[in-house]
Amino acid sequence: MKTKAAVVVIGGGVIGTAIAYELTLRGVRDIVLVEKNTLFSGATARCGAGVRQQWGTEMNLRLSIGSVKRYETLAEELDYPHGIEFSQTGYFMPVYTEKQRQQFEKNVSLQRKFGLDVQYLQPEECRSIVPIVSLDGLLGATYYDKDGYLSPFHTTAAYAEAAKRNGVCIEKNTEVLGFTMEKETIRSVKTNRGDISCDCVVNAAGGWSQEIAQMAHVTLPLFSERHQILVTEPIEPLFRPMVMSFTHGFYTQQEPNGAILMGVGDPHEPKGYNMDHSYHFLHTVASLVTSVLPAVGKARVVRQWSGLYNISPDKAPILGLPKEVNNMFLAVGFSGHGFMVAPMVSEMIAQMITNEELSIPEARTQLDLGRYDRGERIVEPSVV
Ligand SMILES: Cc1cc2nc3c(=O)[nH]c(=O)nc-3n(C[C@H](O)[C@H](O)[C@H](O)COP(=O)(O)OP(=O)(O)OC[C@H]3O[C@@H](n4cnc5c(N)ncnc54)[C@H](O)[C@@H]3O)c2cc1C
Repeated sequence: MKTKAAVVVIGGGVIGTAIAYELTLRGVRDIVLVEKNTLFSGATARCGAGVRQQWGTEMNLRLSIGSVKRYETLAEELDYPHGIEFSQTGYFMPVYTEKQRQQFEKNVSLQRKFGLDVQYLQPEECRSIVPIVSLDGLLGATYYDKDGYLSPFHTTAAYAEAAKRNGVCIEKNTEVLGFTMEKETIRSVKTNRGDISCDCVVNAAGGWSQEIAQMAHVTLPLFSERHQILVTEPIEPLFRPMVMSFTHGFYTQQEPNGAILMGVGDPHEPKGYNMDHSYHFLHTVASLVTSVLPAVGKARVVRQWSGLYNISPDKAPILGLPKEVNNMFLAVGFSGHGFMVAPMVSEMIAQMITNEELSIPEARTQLDLGRYDRGERIVEPSVV
């Protein structure tokens, strides 16, 4: 293993691999990516990989719109022969309350200002998009056909292979145990396989990012929380878009092979690193999804698993340097939607490291850690 690097990226999920690749595009050489397990063994491999642009704040819109644009041609850009399976089959978000209707209408008008042709559907129009949706209590829905989902495995592998081709050393089974520090600067990264001296570090450790920060005496206002997900056997095609209900808190999609993926958060889930799965989840998600999409009830469940959300106070990412350390770049706190913003986030972390202007200049002050001290937050009305 190399003992010296310009940049050590910690974490081999979609964020870490994408950042390593983006750095190579900007001429940074001598990059080592360290991953304590195998690539995409964290949240990335366990996620729904849904990608939506239907957000209610300008920042989240810009992050997701820029990322979708990049995802549309990423396989070609990265010269990845298997493709990343980007299915733009839309997101359908049902509305059940008057308050929600007003909020969604506001969101749609903002989304349209950003050039997205999002539709607000009346109840009688909903079945033209999701033929099996129950009309019980349904007041309408929003739908955007350019949202979708992609393969988290192929996407991350594509970034990792392109990074490797561009000279990045990827060290698997390499766990960061601490740092050697000189005042506010990290001088080297201590791992179970030896030390790597470096100019700077990227913390892209997902659900473990607060532990990594703590090793540099930085306390992040983050916690990790188990989120569970399941998949059914393949059945005949029932619906095409991702269906995401803020009222019920679930998301579900039918994959091209007919299998149905579904997940829901548990308001009573304790903070922590538990990654078991439970019957309670299976029962809850099945009841909620079949109350909205009754025909899904005939599918048999084949597997369930879980992963960690890394949750920030406003459920928006934290990007950039903390005030205590001058060379540990944070790419953390993605909550339930880090996969969909990976292209824009990784580009901007690389821009920060190479002192370029950011693709979204406001991200420097709106997504930094200091926003919480200043009493500022991203107030996103549309997040589960
Ligand atoms: C059930 C579920 C469903 C989700 N659905 C969606 C969705 O539909 N759309 C979406 O956009 N997002 C979704 N997410 C969120 C998304 O998965 C994450 O935001 C995203 O994958 C974060 O990527 P990451 O690279 O930061 O973290 P990870 O993929 O977790 O990668 C971090 C890596 O750091 C490594 N690491 C940790 N500590 C150390 C150490 N000490 N030394 C070395 N390596 C270390 C870990 O092993 C891990 O591989 C979902 C998450 C879950 C759990």
